[in-house]
Amino acid sequence: MCGSLLPLFAVVLSGCFAAGDPEGSAHVDGSPPSKIAVVGAGIGGSATAHFLRQHFGPEVQVDVFEKAEVGGRLATVTVNHNDYESGGSIIHSLNLHMQEFVKQLGLKYRRSVAGKTAVFNGEEMILEETDWYLLDLFRLWWRYGISFIRLQMWVEEIMEKFMRIYKYQAHGYAFSTVEELLDSLGGSGFINMTRRPLSDSLLELGVSQRFIDEVIAPVTRVNYGQNVSIPAFIGAVSLASAQNNLWAVEGGNKLVCSGLLKMANANLLQAQVNTISPIQSGEALQYQLSYTSAAGTESELYDIVVLAAPLQTGVESGLHFQGFTSPFDQLPREYHSTVATIVHGYLNTSFFGFPDPRLFPFASVLTTEKPDLFFNSVASVCPVNISAGFRRKQPQEAGVYKVFSPQPLEKSELKTLFRSYYSVQVTEWKAYPHYGSNQGLPPVELHQNLYYLNGIEWAASAMEMSSVAAKNIALLAYHRWNRQTDMVDQKDLMHRIKTEL
Ligand SMILES: Cc1cc2nc3c(=O)[nH]c(=O)nc-3n(C[C@H](O)[C@H](O)[C@H](O)COP(=O)(O)OP(=O)(O)OC[C@H]3O[C@@H](n4cnc5c(N)ncnc54)[C@H](O)[C@@H]3O)c2cc1C
Repeated sequence: MCGSLLPLFAVVLSGCFAAGDPEGSAHVDGSPPSKIAVVGAGIGGSATAHFLRQHFGPEVQVDVFEKAEVGGRLATVTVNHNDYESGGSIIHSLNLHMQEFVKQLGLKYRRSVAGKTAVFNGEEMILEETDWYLLDLFRLWWRYGISFIRLQMWVEEIMEKFMRIYKYQAHGYAFSTVEELLDSLGGSGFINMTRRPLSDSLLELGVSQRFIDEVIAPVTRVNYGQNVSIPAFIGAVSLASAQNNLWAVEGGNKLVCSGLLKMANANLLQAQVNTISPIQSGEALQYQLSYTSAAGTESELYDIVVLAAPLQTGVESGLHFQGFTSPFDQLPREYHSTVATIVHGYLNTSFFGFPDPRLFPFASVLTTEKPDLFFNSVASVCPVNISAGFRRKQPQEAGVYKVFSPQPLEKSELKTLFRSYYSVQVTEWKAYPHYGSNQGLPPVELHQNLYYLNGIEWAASAMEMSSVAAKNIALLAYHRWNRQTDMVDQKDLMHRIKTEL
């Protein structure tokens, strides 16, 4: 370990520490940390603050920096006095951290309102959900053979393995890399799934090309704005969210973030963190965060820092590393642009081959991969507060619709999709990683006691994934601080846990 040889100031650190060097991260005198910083108050940062409080206890000061809105990519827009989700909107019933947050915070599940889905290929609907489950099953079988059964079994097997994380975390085990975490859940198979295109995995499984084009691609387009060349792991997460057992938080998903910050008794600083620099004082390494708020630019020292904001190219994250060696400048990666357009108006059902809107039975329309299709999906959406008497608007009535598209919609495109409209609200998201090339997974430990949460998004981007990463980082930070090496990156955990009982 080179910590004790380090000179006082950060700039000389260059060339001494390797990023993610776990050797140097144990605390020297056994005293607890006094201050921890979390950068970002999305679900990742808020959940991190909550878990840090759980593990480090009531004494430590937890400061959470947020440059914009608490919630981050969980956000709402207001239409006609009602709020609608414009970012992350649905949660799977097996997402146990999100469930637990909602329970602990006394929040409520939003009532789901039934609605049928269809798939449009630019000319006609090629797949239409009906009111009859058995008829839908028969049609799937008729058109695609047993592809959908193979797919269902594949997704269930992956989910079953993924669920092991809750057991491991409940027993206090942490992982120093996303690869270690995935390996503990599904072995090398899971890691390979982050490198291999979804389409290749499905073809190998015996799923037909037609099923991939007409069913899988529309699902990956609506969930991640990308096609079936996304890695198989994120593809499986996407397909899991195409199941029926989904939920959301009454009042808006972002309520979880503000609730967790409050429950963690964290200090929320409305400020943008500009630079992070390591400062060596004696044997202790701390981090100086310089940040800008309405009051001006200030700086503060922290024992542990968690970055819970994506480091992305093409967007000014505003965050710079000073006095570190180079791996950090390779961290920023490309995020995918998805535009969420919330329209209050009348859907042009003729465009989908239904001249009479009263005969249009669908709440959501997904699309196949067609170069001239300018949108990924359009869906009638429900507000975040659903009253007992709420009913979805019929297509002949003015309703609220969410359109996902790769670019902002032109006026002519809006006029193609809507007969007329009262309002249009556009949110241009850097939504999730652009899963194109095989770049490997970013590190979790950037430096001693400096952690990066959003690398997990390169395995899969979802609220629950950020929550899993938050719990992992809180545990990892705790074990590193207390030199508990037997709780990090342990092998054969299923067996170990059984014998612990
Ligand atoms: C359109 C869309 C639809 C989605 N649908 C779903 C879905 O249905 N289900 C699902 O599970 N997931 C969905 N997701 C993904 C999900 O929203 C994200 O994976 C999750 O919200 C990420 O949370 P996070 O806290 O990790 O990051 P973020 O929410 O991005 O939070 C990071 C925060 O850090 C702040 N920040 C950044 N830099 C700084 C700085 N220098 N100083 C201070 N603060 C800073 C940002 O302002 C932001 O608030 C969707 C995402 C989008 C965009």
